[in-house]
Amino acid sequence: MHKDIPRATAKRLPIYHRYLRFLHNAGKKRISSTELSDAVKVDSATIRRDFSYFGALGKRGYGYDVDYLLDFFSKTLNQDRLTSVALVGVGHLGNALLNYNFRKNNNVRIGAGFDINPDIVGTIQSGVPVYHLDDLEEQIQQQAIEIVILTVPQASASEIVDRLVNSGIKGILNFTPLRYDVPKHVRVQNVDLTNELQTLIYFIDSNMDDGDDLESEFN
Ligand code: ATP
Repeated sequence: MHKDIPRATAKRLPIYHRYLRFLHNAGKKRISSTELSDAVKVDSATIRRDFSYFGALGKRGYGYDVDYLLDFFSKTLNQDRLTSVALVGVGHLGNALLNYNFRKNNNVRIGAGFDINPDIVGTIQSGVPVYHLDDLEEQIQQQAIEIVILTVPQASASEIVDRLVNSGIKGILNFTPLRYDVPKHVRVQNVDLTNELQTLIYFIDSNMDDGDDLESEFN
């Protein structure tokens, strides 16, 4: 990934990528920035600026070459490589995420679950083996796990985050409401579903137009 692209741009890449994959599958060869803008709901100036961080990818009067862009974004997003992901906390939310087929869009595989509940440790949930939390470090090593989805209750979360950091994890997708201080080489992406829902309710209740709410996905 290019180092100096803005965070907001980086967050839009999967959106572009998903739509380009769709176009590719539909046999479409090129797309204008206006069409792309309508489809992904990002204004065309922003799209042009985003793309400019990767060099001049569009041609005036031609638009964008779908296959070229798809190939480019796939590489940028490391789609050619299988990323090994684990999930800690196989409760309701954890199970839902295990069931969610990330591979439809990304080369992501959840290869292991971790929990402390004796009823599920040692079982296979949604096709994924569940290990005891005691085996966390060993399995991270053995399976070369790079990313962990964290869906444990918040009381046990910070201790687990410390262990993940010490075991060389590169990224944490954090579904707990807590925010963690981690070293620079570890990236934490926070997903606060309650917050998102409450924000939506707030916008609806205060009758604001939805011009702003796209932002929440991109910030
Ligand atoms: P949620 O919908 O948030 O997953 P839940 O009711 O399924 O809620 P929680 O109490 O939030 O359950 O716990 C989520 C999962 O995390 C459970 O499967 C629980 O056994 C597991 N868990 C709790 N503490 C730990 C821990 N220290 N390490 C690993 N897993 C844990």
